[in-house]
Amino acid sequence: VDGEIGPADEQQEARVSLDRAWRQDMMSQHTGQHMLSRALLDVAGGETVSARLGASVSTIDIGAPALDEEAIEAVERHVNAAIMEDRPILVHFPSPAELAAMKLRREPKVDANVRVVEIAGYDLSPCGGTHCARTGQVGPVVVAGVERYKGMTRVSFLAGARSLAEQRRHRRLLAELARSFSSAVGEVPANVQKLRAELKERVDQLGSTRGELVALVADALLAASPPAGETTRVVATRPDGDLALARSLASRLARRPDVVALVATRESPAGDHQVVIERGSGAVFDCGAWLKATAARHGGRGGGRADRAEGRLPAHLDWSAVCREG
Ligand SMILES: [Zn+2]
Repeated sequence: VDGEIGPADEQQEARVSLDRAWRQDMMSQHTGQHMLSRALLDVAGGETVSARLGASVSTIDIGAPALDEEAIEAVERHVNAAIMEDRPILVHFPSPAELAAMKLRREPKVDANVRVVEIAGYDLSPCGGTHCARTGQVGPVVVAGVERYKGMTRVSFLAGARSLAEQRRHRRLLAELARSFSSAVGEVPANVQKLRAELKERVDQLGSTRGELVALVADALLAASPPAGETTRVVATRPDGDLALARSLASRLARRPDVVALVATRESPAGDHQVVIERGSGAVFDCGAWLKATAARHGGRGGGRADRAEGRLPAHLDWSAVCREG
């Protein structure tokens, strides 16, 4: 409606326009909801507690335990069979006596002038909304997802053009996945499995290589820094930005009791220093306090306990020079 119609405007002309595609979509989702609620009740014993029509996906909350894949399939089959039978959808304004004789799916929310929507031979519920004239107009109804929600089961669904759009989206996604493997769609799961197995093998290899590298680098650094009193600072810079490796290196160095390991790693010469500081059991040094003071002096952030700390310092700093401070 273009403008508002008040009681004084009875003689005025009003311009009303209807977005047919939008109306059809809402009718499809809403009628689909009636039918899916019926299927959820009859097939899965799930009574509809509330329903919501969304701009992209709609939901029905049922008071039943989570549905498994088999139950979802059975519900979908049930509702789509009734849709394809193209049953008529009728509207009734029953008398109180007629109403009392009706087996409604849920209780009416009003006391008088109850409007009942009948999906012939399928569902009977009180409703004031706009519905399709026949079930065929609903189009395919698909369950898009099932999740636990506030002690209930929330069923997301799509009807009509929306379910076709979803199907199209899935087809494109699968085609893209298949293309990335240069395989047929049906071979995608096997290819993903293969990729995962390969990845695991590489990660295992990388783990043992990293362990050997850490040992070699630590041994070389320790050899170049013989104990000089009770506390020896050992400074290391890694050019790979591999924080896990920096952590391993710091703890490996700190196995020697007199060592304070000050390890920095950066992904590129222009990148920030990611730093890990760890002390040996006999070293006199507060890692957390040192890093906090250094970050306060030069910018950056970080902190931690007395025996171990981590942080990030600005790219322009000379890490070796910083490590001689305080
Ligand atoms: Zn309705």
